[in-house]
Amino acid sequence: MIAPLSSEALILGGGLAGSALAIALAEAGRSVVLVEKNKEAQHKVCGEFLSPESLPLLHRLGICPDYLGAQTIHSTRLVTREVLAEVRFPAPALSLTRRVLDEALLQRARQVGVNVHRGWTAERLDHSESSNHWRAQVSDGCELMFIEGESAFLATGKHGLRGWARATKGTQNNLVAFKMYFAFSPEQQKQLAGYVELILFPGGYAGLQMVEGRCANLCAVVTKEKLQQPGAGWDSLLDYMLRHSDHLARRLNGSVPMLERPLALSAIPYGYCMNGPIEILSPWRIGDQAAVIPSFSGDGMAIALYTARRAAQLYLSGYSAADFHREIRKQFHSRLYFGSLLSRLVTAMPSLGYVARIWPSVLLGIFSATRVPDTAPVS
Ligand SMILES: Cc1cc2nc3c(=O)[nH]c(=O)nc-3n(C[C@H](O)[C@H](O)[C@H](O)COP(=O)(O)OP(=O)(O)OC[C@H]3O[C@@H](n4cnc5c(N)ncnc54)[C@H](O)[C@@H]3O)c2cc1C
Repeated sequence: MIAPLSSEALILGGGLAGSALAIALAEAGRSVVLVEKNKEAQHKVCGEFLSPESLPLLHRLGICPDYLGAQTIHSTRLVTREVLAEVRFPAPALSLTRRVLDEALLQRARQVGVNVHRGWTAERLDHSESSNHWRAQVSDGCELMFIEGESAFLATGKHGLRGWARATKGTQNNLVAFKMYFAFSPEQQKQLAGYVELILFPGGYAGLQMVEGRCANLCAVVTKEKLQQPGAGWDSLLDYMLRHSDHLARRLNGSVPMLERPLALSAIPYGYCMNGPIEILSPWRIGDQAAVIPSFSGDGMAIALYTARRAAQLYLSGYSAADFHREIRKQFHSRLYFGSLLSRLVTAMPSLGYVARIWPSVLLGIFSATRVPDTAPVS
């Protein structure tokens, strides 16, 4: 049997939250092992809108999205059949594909001394009372191995680890997500450049924005009920969205899909925020393991980075996972509740978007109310 790897901190999952935490701990001189199940960075179901709040958190980790090809997003447009309202953000946001961003963070983690294992899947995690250590069973597809750590951090995103499922569900659990890239002509790029367009339709909503090069990201969520209608799938959903939005139909006219098939994700626990009992003996949960905000807010990545940063700060100051979970619940609970209430309302009644036509500032208010807390200590 292979002797177990061991380290002070054991991080399961190398998305934004896992890599961000690994970098922070390694920079503080701690020994860190991180396991990520994918061998290479993958496309992920994500609108790829990097909110203004996420940018200082990335810069602190030594990541500069502009150098990676990110595009500036200065405004949002709310769209049903046509554009209802347009609002400029208080500070610029960016857009960047997750494949590029996640790779950059993992590379950075390696650079600062994290022991990164890609292509390793964590299969279980146990705590030994006698040694007061955590032990993860991981597989590289051929062999089973063990890694031990004084502390364990769960950063596996929306999907949990056997034995460590979230105690409760989200508050909006009936949405399915799809993402597709489209190659845009220079004229189409010019019309969309600088904007993230939020397109509302009965049963769901979609975000459309340019990412790197000539590539536009269309990321949609729709209720399972809508999708279960006869013949439903990506093609019929796209057709349905185009029938409900002349604006989207014009945007996509003549563009070319860039993926063989769309990426899809179901069982998204929107609105989840540590709403179960706080477990005393638990790995630290960060990123989507701690809180899942509905995607229209475009702040999920900022929450992943913020929870990673805050976990590192509290861990290094001697606090426990339970202390951290209590703080996160306090900071995010009402924001997530409000965000998923809005998400439920607009999927049920997209005509509510007309309120923003009368009072465009409502859009800005909603944007602010679903942000990472202002009080977030990012230093
Ligand atoms: C439809 C949709 C659109 C979104 N749009 C936006 C947006 O525009 N802007 C924004 O800020 N946020 C957006 N989000 C939210 C954002 O994508 C997430 O909040 C963010 O990715 C969370 O980061 P994370 O590190 O917690 O999880 P992830 O990025 O999912 O990373 C988890 C990692 O863990 C790995 N993993 C999983 N299980 C295991 C295992 N057993 N062993 C080892 N590794 C494992 C996975 O491979 C993955 O790399 C959107 C979400 C959805 C669903």
